[in-house]
Amino acid sequence: MPKLFAARRPFDYTDDVSLDQGQVFEILGRRNDEVLIRLGYCEPLTGKPKTSDCRLCSGKFLDEPSLNRHGRKRHPREERTPHQEDALMDTEEKRLAETAPLYLDKTKASQKGSGRQKRA
Ligand SMILES: [Zn+2]
Repeated sequence: MPKLFAARRPFDYTDDVSLDQGQVFEILGRRNDEVLIRLGYCEPLTGKPKTSDCRLCSGKFLDEPSLNRHGRKRHPREERTPHQEDALMDTEEKRLAETAPLYLDKTKASQKGSGRQKRA
């Protein structure tokens, strides 16, 4: 049985797969998967969720708002100016920081506890 996960934040999973928030995907069991889960980029799903599917790229999403955000970002109806693009990214970053912060207290360095930090 494939293990279903949902992206908590947008991230590039593989060279070919860019995920958006709320996007459902099958985890591949790669070396980095554990880190992605620990830091809060994605989380496991239980059971098989009812998804909202993108008609343009067949991406699957947990809910309608996630699908709509994906649509605005990946399939814009009109070209955006670089300025509009920047503004959109800013808004997105702020929203993500509030709704789906990364678990930065769970990095390897912070888990070790002591003041000395080693590079991961
Ligand atoms: Zn799409």
